[in-house]
Amino acid sequence: MAANITAALAGNPNSGKTTMFNALTGSRQRVGNYPGITVERKEGSYRNNGLEVQIIDLPGTYSLTAYSLEELVARQVLVEERPDVVVHIVDATALERSLYLAVQFLELGVPLVLALNMMDEVKKKGIRINTARLSQLLQVPVVETVARQGRGKDQLMQAAVDQARQAGSGWKPLEISYGPHIDRVLGQMTARIEAAGFLTDRYPARWIALKYLEGDEKILEDGRRVGSLSEELEQMAAKAAELCEKHFHTYPEAIITDYRYGYINSILKQGVMVVEARPSFDQSDQLDKVLTHKVLGPLIMFGILYGIFQLTFTLGEYPMGWLEAFFGWLGDTFTRILPEGLLRSLVVSGIIDGVGSVMGFVPLILIMFLLVTFLEDLGYMARVAYMLDRVFRLFGLHGASVMPFIISGGLPGGCAVPGVMAARTLRSPRERLATIITAPFQVCGAKIPVFILLVGAFFKQNQALVMFWITLGAWAAALLVSRLLRWTVIRGAPTPFVMELPPYRLPTLRGVLTHTWERTWQYIKKAGTVILAIAILLWAAMTFPQLPAGQVAQFQQEKQVTAQAVAETAARFGLSEAEKEKLLREKLAAIDARQGEAALRHSLAGRLGQAIAPVMSWAGFNWQTNIALIGGFAAKEVIVATLGTAYSLGEVDPEEAGGLAARIAADPHWTTPAILALIIFVLLYAPCFVTVVAMARESSWKWAAFSLIFNTVLAYGLAVLVYQVGSRL
Ligand code: GDP
Ligand code: MG
Repeated sequence: MAANITAALAGNPNSGKTTMFNALTGSRQRVGNYPGITVERKEGSYRNNGLEVQIIDLPGTYSLTAYSLEELVARQVLVEERPDVVVHIVDATALERSLYLAVQFLELGVPLVLALNMMDEVKKKGIRINTARLSQLLQVPVVETVARQGRGKDQLMQAAVDQARQAGSGWKPLEISYGPHIDRVLGQMTARIEAAGFLTDRYPARWIALKYLEGDEKILEDGRRVGSLSEELEQMAAKAAELCEKHFHTYPEAIITDYRYGYINSILKQGVMVVEARPSFDQSDQLDKVLTHKVLGPLIMFGILYGIFQLTFTLGEYPMGWLEAFFGWLGDTFTRILPEGLLRSLVVSGIIDGVGSVMGFVPLILIMFLLVTFLEDLGYMARVAYMLDRVFRLFGLHGASVMPFIISGGLPGGCAVPGVMAARTLRSPRERLATIITAPFQVCGAKIPVFILLVGAFFKQNQALVMFWITLGAWAAALLVSRLLRWTVIRGAPTPFVMELPPYRLPTLRGVLTHTWERTWQYIKKAGTVILAIAILLWAAMTFPQLPAGQVAQFQQEKQVTAQAVAETAARFGLSEAEKEKLLREKLAAIDARQGEAALRHSLAGRLGQAIAPVMSWAGFNWQTNIALIGGFAAKEVIVATLGTAYSLGEVDPEEAGGLAARIAADPHWTTPAILALIIFVLLYAPCFVTVVAMARESSWKWAAFSLIFNTVLAYGLAVLVYQVGSRL
């Protein structure tokens, strides 16, 4: 008989959820996003023996309290879509920790089936689990699985279908005792909630009361919207918190956690789990003795992170060169095919150069993601977060903020777009926000050519050292600004570092490759579409309005006069044909350059640059620099190219920026304080447009706009300070 039910696949990160999902659904998968946010939504279907199960892959979570986006999404799918059954993938080698989530499903009341995954490793570790006993005590079907081999998956689906059918649509929440104090408050709150029908269309009454005690922000918010009772409930929760403080020097959340683990332990001790023999050599523990050692740990960490950086750039150099060559060839080809004019200018300068510069980074992104994904799946990233947590906490951040910082360019050469996306691993929305806003301060790959240009022009003797200080400055800026934000606009208590260290586990090649490709493809798609639009816009701003016909004619005439003059000179001094050609080319190029500058002054971008000159001159910037900085809003690479154009040199290749550097160095306008001010400004001012879009997607447009304005104001203030003080010394 055909049964069509919907099952939600849930579990802690690293429990084997994705592996099981793939084993169950094979190629019948759809990947998308939850509306409005970037948490990935995967769906698929399982078919076998006349069973048909629609499967939703929930984000990996440790709890169902709204600490993080993942947890919120998981919960919302459960209450809004009401799947017929939750299939919880449990890492059986860490049964106690995994059951913490299971207990929360039971408290919510959803029909549940447990898959005890990693059973192969359980046996190796000398742990014995009495599955039948566990099932009996929890009153939930339990199936043993090895997701990597697809073992147990059919039994699991059969159990899910049976459980769904048996449960019907009613949810039967489990009630755990939380000790006399909490239980009393819970009882009072539950009674009030039930009487008022407060949010009870979605959640069980006692569960709502629990969330009030845990201070679950989403529930508090929903509650305030519903009204009347919410204030009273918040007061009751506050009083309970006071009581806890007085009696136990702790808060309700901690007590609730303790009792949940107590409940789990009492079950495990009733003959469910026996550790037969303490394994003589637990590799994870041994490894951690070295890898998270007080002194060695951080050293190894910096070594590994530096290695990632080195490997990425060493390996990435070649494919990046090929891509550059390809886009160069493409540009040349179109220059030949298309007649001179606006269309050619748009296609070559606008589209191919603009999109090409971003696509050029794809090999780097791919390699970096590959290495980072490997370390994540291995379980190492959790250790990095663990080690740096204490330092970051001082600045209002979290151990898990480290990776976003590094990816954004904490080791120069990253990119803030994947960096901001990497902040998803943060559980607390506030720490996540602070990370998202400060990550773009890092020295991303696009800022590097700008700094190389400026440092090369002015600090030729100490290039490496100055670059090193710029990098340190970026870290300092990120940490200090975060501290400032966490004291002011993003105030809130730090979240505990609850992530337990998972055992090291060698990931499969296929898993790493798939994951890497998914991430890279997202980058290509996003950057490709957005950058294309920017490239066209920017090109237009630097091209329109065009010089009036009269002025163009003047330049034309000047060229004719020059050609004639050159011809006469050549005749008089008897120059050879080659010498004459060369002279003519030089003279015409000089006129072209002046025409270019005039056109730029006349364009929208040029006018903007001149319009803000009175303000920007406080920081020591001239109008050409202003255009470059405006261009830098679109993408920081643009600063170099725009400076080049503005200095009438046309396109500037960052590697060969010697010409431009020399020109800038020779410009009396550029004093040392002015250059320092410019470096500081470029380091700190508004993130590039793609990053802003990414920030908006990861947080909200409001915060993206905030960082745009705040960073620019901060950068301007510091630049003015440095320039004004420096000029007076
Ligand atoms: P997720 O984070 O829950 O999606 O976990 P994954 O599916 O990515 O799996 C994490 C790691 O555990 C991967 O390296 C898998 O290959 C591995 N894994 C998954 N299931 C099993 C299993 O049953 N036994 C063993 N030994 N490893 C597994
Ligand atoms: Mg996964």
